[in-house]
Amino acid sequence: MAESWNESDKIHRVVFDGPELHKLTFKFCVRGLCARKSWHFREKFETECLFSPTSWLCEMSFRQVTRNGRTCFPFVLKRTDSSSNPVNVKVSLHILDAACKQLFRTPIIKEERMLAGEVIEVSLEEIMEFPKTVYFNLLLHVVLAIRITSCHSTSLQ
Ligand SMILES: [Zn+2]
Repeated sequence: MAESWNESDKIHRVVFDGPELHKLTFKFCVRGLCARKSWHFREKFETECLFSPTSWLCEMSFRQVTRNGRTCFPFVLKRTDSSSNPVNVKVSLHILDAACKQLFRTPIIKEERMLAGEVIEVSLEEIMEFPKTVYFNLLLHVVLAIRITSCHSTSLQ
C-alpha cells in the first residue's frame, strides 16, 4: 500500500504560454488520506511572458474527512515576483472522490489586478455522509487550472 501512496507525489504539470493567456494545469491524485491524515501540495511556477513575467507559489493542504463528515482545507496562491504590473488571475479547481463525485462545488476563484506580493486565500469546505467519507479518504482526483491574463499591458486599459 505504501507504494501506491507515493503516487500522490506525482504531479503532472502542463504549461501554456500564449499571447493573451498563461495557463498552468496541475493534475494529481491524493491517495490514502485514511492513513496519512493530510497531504500538502506546494508548487512554484513562473510565466514565460515577454511583457511582464510573474512568479507564483500555490499551496493546498488536503485533510482526511473526520467522523462528523466535515473536511476543510486552505487554497493559497501567492504572487512572488516584484514587477509592478497587475495581472488578472482565474483559478478552477476540480476535485473528485474515488467514486468520481465532484466535491467542494468546483470553485472558480477570480482576482483582478493582482499585484506582486498579494495573496489569494480561500477556505474550501465539504460536509459528507457515509459512504462518501470512505471514498474521500481513499482517493481524490485533482485538476487545478490557473489562468493569468492582462500581463500584456494594453488589455488592462
Ligand atoms: Zn503575459
